[in-house]
Amino acid sequence: MRSKTSATVDDHRPVATSLSQKLLHWYDQHRRHLPWRAEPGAAADPYRVLVSELMLQQTTVATVTGRFEPFLSRFPDIESLANADESDVLHAWQGLGYYRRARALHAAARDVMSKHQGRLPETAEALRDLPGIGDYTAKAVAAIAFGQPVLPIDGNGVRVLARIFAIETPLPKAANDVRALATAFEPTERPADLAQAVMDLGATICRPQKPLCEVCPWQDECQGRRAGCAESLPKRARKAKRPVRQGVAFLLTRSDGAILFRKRPPRGLLGGLHELPTSTWLPAPLDRDAAIAEAPAQLNWRFHEQPVRHVFTHFTLELDLAEAETQHPPEGLWQSCTALEQLALPTLVKKLLRQAGRM
Ligand code: SF4
Repeated sequence: MRSKTSATVDDHRPVATSLSQKLLHWYDQHRRHLPWRAEPGAAADPYRVLVSELMLQQTTVATVTGRFEPFLSRFPDIESLANADESDVLHAWQGLGYYRRARALHAAARDVMSKHQGRLPETAEALRDLPGIGDYTAKAVAAIAFGQPVLPIDGNGVRVLARIFAIETPLPKAANDVRALATAFEPTERPADLAQAVMDLGATICRPQKPLCEVCPWQDECQGRRAGCAESLPKRARKAKRPVRQGVAFLLTRSDGAILFRKRPPRGLLGGLHELPTSTWLPAPLDRDAAIAEAPAQLNWRFHEQPVRHVFTHFTLELDLAEAETQHPPEGLWQSCTALEQLALPTLVKKLLRQAGRM
């Protein structure tokens, strides 16, 4: 007896084949031209595919487009990336956020050099064994770089397939249902193009709001469209409110104008990046006196009126910005305002420096 999932996948295979053909026909005319993508008929460079896939997780195409080539100029191949210092990799990653991905890419490059003779493994299973490479990235690289018959499904793909099959289950369970169904699409022909076609359809036609169903190659088959509920899919479970943490960031200036920075511990949030010294980030409300006790020097700190807010995945951070000058600079990393680009500064710190008019 077949399981429910395998029955569903098998039942969807004929329609998946026909949908794939329509989508590839559409892709041949409407594909996006992106800096990391091979042109039609050209072989993809696995290293460029790997870098782009890591960058594109949680970062928009527009942002990655501006950062991809500078990163590739600095680290043109997997060997140069593997041999780089982590601080240089984090520095080159500035502006992309979620630095965990930069560390994963760096660790993966080192693994490829030490265990795979400098060549990326070709199958999704072997790619998944590299540090920091999850199921989606492994399938994306396997399909796009090596033509393996797998279909990577990211958030865009989940949205498209949830609409096509009118899956009413809320996220995150809907994503599991969709990924199970996606195996019905696993292609034997043009896997790279099909993977990229699903990405392009989700990005340009089956958008989160106001999908352009009238020009969609799947409009005839789309059950969500027929039921009139496409835009509301996939449904979302009600989210718990993101907690707020608060603290004080200390901008301490020396008489020559240099600012005191420190480096965060290598692992964990913003690991290995530079920051202004801060008090401990604690659940609101902020106790300013307790926070000032953690300042790098006991001085007359002047507070900005507005805190700087930054949203992390699991909490929102609000930092009050305090400034002071010192004639007796403590030991530490002092950096001139004209050489800030030498530091790996996360967006949070750039926001603080901008508020203080130092960037
Ligand atoms: S018909 Fe509309 S909802 Fe359905 S896949 Fe196409 S764009 Fe998305």
